[in-house]
Amino acid sequence: MRIAQVSAHTSPLAPLGGRETGGMNVYVLELSRELARLGYEVDIFTRLDGELPPVEQVAPNLRVVRLPAGPPEPIDKEAIARHLPRFTRGLLEFAADQPGGYDVVHSHYWQSGRAGAVLARDQRAPHVVMFHTLGEVKNRARISEQEPRLRIRSERSVARRADAIVTASPHERELLERYYGASPARMHTIPCGVDLDLFQPRDRRDCRQRLGLAQDAPVLLWVGRLEKLKGVDILVSAVAELEMKDVTLLIVGGDEHAEGLKAELLAQAEREGIAGAIRFEGAVPHDELPAYYCAADVCVVPSYYESFGLVAVEAMACGTPVVASRVGGLVSTVVDGVTGYLIPWRCPGPFAEKLGVLLENPELRANFSRAARTSMERFRWRTVGLQVAQLYDDVRARHPGRRHPGVVLGNEAWEAAVLASGL
Ligand code: UDP
Repeated sequence: MRIAQVSAHTSPLAPLGGRETGGMNVYVLELSRELARLGYEVDIFTRLDGELPPVEQVAPNLRVVRLPAGPPEPIDKEAIARHLPRFTRGLLEFAADQPGGYDVVHSHYWQSGRAGAVLARDQRAPHVVMFHTLGEVKNRARISEQEPRLRIRSERSVARRADAIVTASPHERELLERYYGASPARMHTIPCGVDLDLFQPRDRRDCRQRLGLAQDAPVLLWVGRLEKLKGVDILVSAVAELEMKDVTLLIVGGDEHAEGLKAELLAQAEREGIAGAIRFEGAVPHDELPAYYCAADVCVVPSYYESFGLVAVEAMACGTPVVASRVGGLVSTVVDGVTGYLIPWRCPGPFAEKLGVLLENPELRANFSRAARTSMERFRWRTVGLQVAQLYDDVRARHPGRRHPGVVLGNEAWEAAVLASGL
């Protein structure tokens, strides 16, 4: 079976921890690797954004295809919508050259959802979509800038027309039904996965030594794309409220686009008298992260919203307890009082209280650590990959099927078809 994975705005091979490179990139690459290992032929389509080969063989059965659309350099995520018609035309043209075309189109994020819907129709193949984050939910959180109306409209349209929607958590499924009218019968909750060989418990002393951390002082860790929705400001204030005074807070992630927020957090830390406790590490390559997770006593995920939250899962796979906001996917990954704590209020006091409990109690931490690692078995990529593969088989069996191979429409006809589809 040949699968097209569509990830227009961000490449799965891009360095992680930047403004647009986080969980979705990891998900698309790791899921595709697993499907390729299972024998599916997978092409991941992304926008060409540098001097990179148009087609890259990443592993047996797995290619990344870069399609020219707009300037061949990184551009704002919002600007990509303008280049979507060109991207989609590239998709159709590439697919037309593939003997047999594609059997399933799986799109990620709303912009790819629009492009993927057109490709799926052209290929007479089922369209599976995963949104990763939802504009309506971000807007209701009122933390970052408002998401454009085009995004909300597109999400609604793609959600209503897709053959299947993958949601990473039951909560995302509820939101899609409530805010977008998506049909529950077409939604399938399949969690994201974690590489349990890369993310596993390691010797804490070695990890601390490598990172230049004191062996006996408490270490807290935050990892992610440095943006307001992640709630790092709550964590900074929580650290200021801790009774222990020799705590180090490692902040991992963030590129040049995060300089403004970093300056705000530093100013806040200075006001609250803990600037010396914070170490900004910048973006760290994914395979170097286990040392950070294993060096830390607790990983903190204080997000205002998190559709799944891979960081929490990676930390727990390393045997590090997690203190997280009780939001989105975190509710289904962190077991409150067993592998970490879930905090229902987005304010520093309750975070400080639970962090204090864990930092002051090594035995409790050790218990949480064992439980955390064990509980991650269900997120093994093989298990997740098989669930997605089963979904592909099901949607394909139900789909009316491909009457004839994909037809590339002429440029104008194609634009007209996109407009007519209302996407
Ligand atoms: N990440 C990384 N290096 C960094 C920062 C983040 O490899 O410097 C990875 C992290 O390991 C995780 C992903 O980026 O796999 C973030 O995913 P998560 O689901 O937590 O957040 P999202 O990006 O989806 O908001």
